[in-house]
Amino acid sequence: MWVSFAGKAFSAEIERLRVWPAPDKTRVVFDLSGNVEYKAFTVDNPSRVVIDFKNSNAQKELVLPVRKNRLLKRVRSAKKQNKSFRVVLDLRRNVKIKSFQLGPAENKGHRLVIDLIDPRMAPQAEPQVAQGKKKKPAKQTVSKKKKQQVSEPILRDLVVAIDAGHGGKDPGASGKRGTREKDVVLSIAKKLARKINNTPGMRAVLTRERDIFLPLRKRIEIARRHNADLFISLHADAFRNHTVQGSSVYVLSEHGASSEAARWLAEKENAADFIGGVKLHTEDKLLKEVLIDLSQNAVMDASTNVAREVLNGLQRIGKVHKPTVQHAGFVVLKAPDIPSILIETAFITNPKEERKLINPSHQKKLVDAIHRGITRYFSEYAPPGTRLAAR
Ligand SMILES: [Zn+2]
Repeated sequence: MWVSFAGKAFSAEIERLRVWPAPDKTRVVFDLSGNVEYKAFTVDNPSRVVIDFKNSNAQKELVLPVRKNRLLKRVRSAKKQNKSFRVVLDLRRNVKIKSFQLGPAENKGHRLVIDLIDPRMAPQAEPQVAQGKKKKPAKQTVSKKKKQQVSEPILRDLVVAIDAGHGGKDPGASGKRGTREKDVVLSIAKKLARKINNTPGMRAVLTRERDIFLPLRKRIEIARRHNADLFISLHADAFRNHTVQGSSVYVLSEHGASSEAARWLAEKENAADFIGGVKLHTEDKLLKEVLIDLSQNAVMDASTNVAREVLNGLQRIGKVHKPTVQHAGFVVLKAPDIPSILIETAFITNPKEERKLINPSHQKKLVDAIHRGITRYFSEYAPPGTRLAAR
């Protein structure tokens, strides 16, 4: 049976495919030009989900935006003879699916959402609200309590850890006019924290609020201590060639630096661990732990998704150095359990961008762009138990 949204259905263009992994499910979102009628069903041996879009088409080939996913293997699509468009999601194992359409909201257009629920990872069923209804009076106090727990779960704020790079004896990069990276990124970090704290359902934690030196892993520790849902490290870029400009967004690479420039950058940022006189062998245990957990694909996929949204935001306000999310081995991104991104806000070595970096109104633009990226990401994928997820 064809399922339509709000009773209306037209022919639609399938514009893009997005994927949001969570521990118990993977959410697949199709961005559409309008409402569609669709059928979604699972097929076994081999495991797959088939989605037929009535009177629809896709101009561009649909590709999986994530490199690795626990449930998704690949996507295939084809136009069918009856004018419908078929998308097949090849899976690693059988799943249960839930599907629904969403209308335009918060900068998003029409969407079809398919949740792939991993039955092995699905959370246990909540205690039933109605459970105590017909029981003896003696047990009612207990069931009343249960009922309250179910109907009024304690919701928490999303925590965003904001890390102003460098600090103290480590000034970071500097510009011709003497602007120091550690100062501008602290100023931007404070503004971003204020903006996040003014956003309902969100709370910011700064790794440093003053001009102090902080070893890289200490920054991750602070984020973890506050149970951060997201870690954002702010930096300003430097290069020998002073005409190089634009912002970049990094996530941790799986196999080290992805390009020569990225490797150069990674070395520069990592060097801070030694500047502070921190001996690596004292942190061996954490390092080991971090390396083992690098395989946590869900966190890496989440990092890539949020990085993409932030990069989109930055693209709206000015030049980006690299139009795609970059991968590098920055130590500060190595939290195995917190989606983490590093933003090179601009090139401090470019005189034009150096002026921008110290300009409060440009700082505000940067903050707005980053904030926009974060909220867009969380509007799609808010961790369970947060006020934003409940909305
Ligand atoms: Zn830096």
